[in-house]
Amino acid sequence: MQEHIESLQKLQTVDLRIRELTEGLTRYPNEIDDLKKDLLEKEESINLKETSLSELRTQRDGLESSLSSNQESIKKSEERLFAIKTHKEYEALQKEITDTRKENLEIEDRTISVMAEIEETEAALAEEKENYSSLEEQYAQQIAEKEKKIEELEISRKPAEKEKSEILSKIDPKILPLYEKIFERNGRALALAENEKCTSCNINIPPQLYNEILKRTKLVQCPSCKKILYTNP
Ligand SMILES: [Zn+2]
Repeated sequence: MQEHIESLQKLQTVDLRIRELTEGLTRYPNEIDDLKKDLLEKEESINLKETSLSELRTQRDGLESSLSSNQESIKKSEERLFAIKTHKEYEALQKEITDTRKENLEIEDRTISVMAEIEETEAALAEEKENYSSLEEQYAQQIAEKEKKIEELEISRKPAEKEKSEILSKIDPKILPLYEKIFERNGRALALAENEKCTSCNINIPPQLYNEILKRTKLVQCPSCKKILYTNP
């Protein structure tokens, strides 16, 4: 029975290592994906801001050109005022000038607010771009480290699996399902019994049961956590 326990201990050691390798091989690629996704989201936000900045600039240019064409038309109308003969015509033209001036005041107000928005967007964009390039650098380094870890884990996986199959070939197939069931359910299948206690769940082991563990004639499970108990020789 001692032999069985020793093989199971070896099996558990290699199983724990394989589990760690498998976890790493899932975790690191996920972490790399998250970093790439984060960077992509930031890039999209920068692109959106650039688009809105160029729209704002187009809007500003449009406002500025309406302003100057209105100014031009005011100038022409003012020149025409001198040539006008009738009072009625004079008043109509005067009104047109006043209206255009009023319109220009509104255009100027809108231009000011668009320009403020441009300035705000430019500042935000500059900040985002700066953050992006520093993040890009940091992430590239982190990704390289994680890729290296993945590579190392992949290198270690094959020998661990080979070792496992060697250990398995020496294990009594009758006790394997019990081991596997406990390992799956509890994360570990074996627990050290010491001073009449299970060191995994800390319960007191009844003396009769403890004696059986010491005798090493059959596999004994902890009454509470169900792990296979062993004592140090
Ligand atoms: Zn226990």
